[in-house]
Amino acid sequence: MRPYDVILKKRNGGKLTKEEIEYMIMGYVNGEIPDYQMSAFLMAIYFRHLDKDERAIFTEIMAKSGDMLDLSPIKGVKVDKHSTGGVGDKTTLVVAPIVASLGIPVAKMSGRALGHTGGTIDKLESIPGFKTSLSLEKFFENVNKYKIAVVGQTANLAPADKKIYALRDATATVDEISLIASSIMSKKLAGGADAFVLDVKVGSGAFMKDISSAKELASAMVEIAKSHNKTAVAVLTNMDEPLGTFAGNSLEVLEAINTLKGQGDEKFRILCLTLSAWMCHLAGLGSYEKCFELSKEALDTGKALEKFKEFVKAQEGNEMVVESPEKILPISNKIVEFKASEDGYISSIDTEKVGIACNYLGAGRVKKEDNIDHSVGLEFLKKIGDKVKNGDTLVRLYVSEKSNINEAMNLLKQAYNISSTEINSLEIILDIVK
Ligand code: URA
Repeated sequence: MRPYDVILKKRNGGKLTKEEIEYMIMGYVNGEIPDYQMSAFLMAIYFRHLDKDERAIFTEIMAKSGDMLDLSPIKGVKVDKHSTGGVGDKTTLVVAPIVASLGIPVAKMSGRALGHTGGTIDKLESIPGFKTSLSLEKFFENVNKYKIAVVGQTANLAPADKKIYALRDATATVDEISLIASSIMSKKLAGGADAFVLDVKVGSGAFMKDISSAKELASAMVEIAKSHNKTAVAVLTNMDEPLGTFAGNSLEVLEAINTLKGQGDEKFRILCLTLSAWMCHLAGLGSYEKCFELSKEALDTGKALEKFKEFVKAQEGNEMVVESPEKILPISNKIVEFKASEDGYISSIDTEKVGIACNYLGAGRVKKEDNIDHSVGLEFLKKIGDKVKNGDTLVRLYVSEKSNINEAMNLLKQAYNISSTEINSLEIILDIVK
C-alpha cells in the first residue's frame, strides 16, 4: 500500500477499507507518513467526507492509538457527558453531583480551556486545594465510594487525534463533520464509558453556527457510538448567548454552587436537569420523564449540593466553598462596567466575541502553556430579548492588573446589538438526536 493510492482513492470519492484507514492514521502517528501526505488525505476527506462505516473505523483507530481506559473496576453503568464547548458552560459542575447523588457513577475526564471556550478542569482548580490529577486507583476508589470523580485527561488519550487535530488546525480541515465527530468520539471511547450524553452547542458561541450542521454532527456522533455498541443521546442547546449569568473560572464555580442551592438562572437550571435526566435514563434509572423528576428532586432537596461538597472534599478541595463561596473562591473585587449606548431590546450577542473578551481579562489561554487567572470574568446582566435603557449595565467585568480591559470592552461593543423592536428571549433546548 502507498499513501498516494489511499489519497487518490478518497480524492475520487472512493470508500476506504479498514486497512487503508489504519495505514494512514498509524503511519502518520509513527512518523512514516509525512505531514504533506496526511494534509492531502485530510483535505480529500474534507471534500469527499467519510461514510458511516468509515467514520466508525476512523474513530476506533484513533481511540486505540493510546490508552483505552477500562472502567470495569467501577460498579454500574458508566455514563459520560460531553459538551462541544461554549461560553459560561459550567454544566458538569451541577450535572455530575445531581447524577451521582442518584447513585449513578460519574467517572469523568474533562478538558481545559480551549480557544474562546472554558474548561471544567480549570474551573475546578479555582477551589483552593482541589486536585484534578488522581492516580487511577484513587479515581476508581472515589467513584466507587462517592459515585463521583472528575480528573484531567491523561496525556496518552487518543494521541493520534492530538497529532491529526494539530495538522487540521494548520491546514483548514477542522470544520468537517466526519473529522469533528471522530475526533470527539475517539476520546470518548478511549475514556471507557458505556453511554454518552452529548451537549452539542449551536449558535454564535459554538463550533456549529446553525442548527442543520449541528444536527448532522450530533447524528454522526450518535451513529459512531452505536457502531461501537454504546448508547448516546445528543441534546442540541443554544449558544447564541452566554450560558447562565457568569463566565470565568471562580465565577462559574460560584454560579454552579448557587444553582445547586436552588438559586440562579432558570435556563441554565433547565439545561442541567435535561442533561442529568438523559444521563440517568441511559444508566437505566427509568423513563426520561421519571429521571427528570428525580433530578429536580435532587436539586430541590439539597441532595446534589451535599454530593458536590463530598466531591470537593474527596478531591482535597476546601469544602467550605459550599457555605461561603464568595469568601473561599478568588474573585476579583475590581469591577468595570460595559453599558448600553441606546434604548431598546438586546437583539443579538456574538457569543464567540464575548468568550474572547473573557480571555482578554485573563480567564483563558492563548497558548497551551499560558497560566490562567481564576479571579477574573464576566457577569451578564442582560440577555437577548431584555429591554434596556441607555446607560444600563449590560456586562460587569471582573478584572485584574493584567487584564486587557480595552480589548475586552471593544469586543463587547462589537458583540452586543440593540434593536428598537421587541425580541423574544431564546429557548435553551433546541432538539434531541437519538
Ligand atoms: N473538538 C474536538 O475534540 N475535536 C474537533 O475536531 C473539534 C472540536
